[in-house]
Amino acid sequence: MKIEADLVVFNGNIITMDPQKPTVTALAVKSYKILAVGDEEEVLELVPTAKKVLDLGGKTVIPGFIDAHTHLTSAGIKQSHVQLDNVKSPEEAIQKLKDNVGRYPKGEWILGYNWDESEWTDRRYILGKELDEVSNDHPIMITRVCGHLASVNAIGLKKLGIDLKQEGVMKDKKNKPTGILKDIDEIWEKVRPGSEKLLEGIVKGNRIAFEKGITAVVDNAPVGTLRYVREIERRNQLSTRMILNIPVEQLNQMTDLGLTSGMGSPMVKIGGVKIFTDGSIGAMTARVSKGYLKDPENKGRALITPDKYKDIVKNAAEHNIQTVTHAIGDDAIEMVISTFENLEDKSMLREQRHRIEHAELINEYQIRRAVGLGLILSMQPNFVGRWQQEGGLYDERLDPETVRGMNMFRVALDNGARLCFGSDGMPYGPLYGIWSATTHHNDRVRLTVEEALRCYTLESAYSVFQENTLGSLTVGKRADFVVLSDDILNVKPDTIKDITVEMTVVGGIVEYSITRD
Ligand SMILES: [Zn+2]
Repeated sequence: MKIEADLVVFNGNIITMDPQKPTVTALAVKSYKILAVGDEEEVLELVPTAKKVLDLGGKTVIPGFIDAHTHLTSAGIKQSHVQLDNVKSPEEAIQKLKDNVGRYPKGEWILGYNWDESEWTDRRYILGKELDEVSNDHPIMITRVCGHLASVNAIGLKKLGIDLKQEGVMKDKKNKPTGILKDIDEIWEKVRPGSEKLLEGIVKGNRIAFEKGITAVVDNAPVGTLRYVREIERRNQLSTRMILNIPVEQLNQMTDLGLTSGMGSPMVKIGGVKIFTDGSIGAMTARVSKGYLKDPENKGRALITPDKYKDIVKNAAEHNIQTVTHAIGDDAIEMVISTFENLEDKSMLREQRHRIEHAELINEYQIRRAVGLGLILSMQPNFVGRWQQEGGLYDERLDPETVRGMNMFRVALDNGARLCFGSDGMPYGPLYGIWSATTHHNDRVRLTVEEALRCYTLESAYSVFQENTLGSLTVGKRADFVVLSDDILNVKPDTIKDITVEMTVVGGIVEYSITRD
């Protein structure tokens, strides 16, 4: 009996990331999965007919990118608010907010996102009193690009109703709050969007993904988001596979319900439990052993005690839940690794694939210990392109030797680490990340294109228990792939960030195409 495929693509330069057949020219899809890969003759022999046939015209195809660390739903929601990504000064940010006041009914939160003072000549945070000038009728909160720091106006501070004596509320010389809040988690809950905004946000977030060639993302969102993602899936509007990490505050809900990592549908899955141990380098809250350049006394902020962290890890591991721990500074990373080392029962750790998120200041000794424990390093080459260039933000925050030891992807792979790549949305786009990792001036950071590609596909699939269904173009796996404008393995690495994603295919369905077929 001859099989009819749903889709056959041919005349391509198909990079499979499968060592058995690294490059082929054709592939066939049936029931959302890859039915055959090979040259045209091989595929035709197996699958003589297809409902749809696509001539790739020699273009390069790679497996769909898996972005292992995103905030995609919240990025989608943010698109409905004021974007401060590209403003060039505090004044321009204030002006942009003023221009948008009319969109918000009186009393409603005006929210702005992603300002980054490191890209301004006037490198300072925006103060609450400057936001007071934007409007007297609205609470206003603008969040720094790292998501760990926000500026709030006086009405906003009142509306948040938080304890202004707590750590993280920045004060001026007269001991009055400046409106700058660092790592105060309770504030985000107070500005959470309603259900329609959430549904809209998920669809918008999906668009961000498929335009960048991302076919699966790990999103960090409260467990309630699951209901909305499933609703979008039911409406047939979910175009990106989503794996959801659940905040640690909801770990008990997960264990009560018996939710474990990896369960779900082909499109929506439960990820791990997300725990924060420190802040960010930009906000100078990452826990570093040597202190910050301009403020050596400041060694960052511990967001959790070692005892509490150990309890959480034990609880999660006993319930077969993957932990996903944000740890950027070397001191925070040390606490994470030694916690795992000190667990009485380590037999399941490798199988449970616990992840350290960012791990930017991990040193070689720590890398080796992480490898020994089976911990996955979930790192962001996109940070490197954005902040770890000469004279960039990291050079301003930390001494040169420390910066030289940051984000050592090369050292991690040379020590046998499981290294998966994510963007954290800074910015979105795996091609930007691959460009960053492959062109970096520091040879402790720099990877080959093939290695970086592998970290953004197969290794990311492994980090979410999906290496048998995603991450390479192999018979039986989901038919997730991307058509690129250029041959990523053969262009000059410096031009990788300019490659265009021409088509994104998820489960054999064309979700995005720059040309109509
Ligand atoms: Zn993040």
